[in-house]
Amino acid sequence: MREARRKPGSEWLKDRPAFLEDVYALFQRAFRTVYPPMKRMAPRTSEGFITWAEEVGKGYVFNCQMCGQCVLHSTGMTCPMTCPKNLRNGPCGGVRADGHCEVIPERMCVWVQAWERSRHMPKSGDEILLLQPPVNRQLKDTSSWINWLEGIDEETPPGW
Ligand code: SF4
Repeated sequence: MREARRKPGSEWLKDRPAFLEDVYALFQRAFRTVYPPMKRMAPRTSEGFITWAEEVGKGYVFNCQMCGQCVLHSTGMTCPMTCPKNLRNGPCGGVRADGHCEVIPERMCVWVQAWERSRHMPKSGDEILLLQPPVNRQLKDTSSWINWLEGIDEETPPGW
């Protein structure tokens, strides 16, 4: 896992998950319109640019680890890949009594934060109750925005 970073303002933003889910909904609508013509004109450049923009933007706010299958709206706008165990379906059994992480005691458990933030998301907050499939590691370092738009993040790799 990349080193956990706390960029100025990022915790403040993540503690406003209702605002973030609205921004995300707007972004998704715009991306659906803008990306297909971009891709037709310059496929490789567009993919490279979008991947870079996602890495920089979401890296700053969410400490995104570029798993390629974003589930932020199902995890209280808190990246589950920043959990040292990369758990995508809730916390392990090691959460401390004060809600801190078993592995990195100075940090709050990602899943404690995810749950609390999800309670402030009127649109998709209850999606935290859905069971997430195992993350497809083959998508690491690809753009989850493109994978979402093209349905790649829903595909099951051969042999699963
Ligand atoms: S793309 Fe993956 S690593 Fe990045 S914020 Fe979403 S869930 Fe986290």
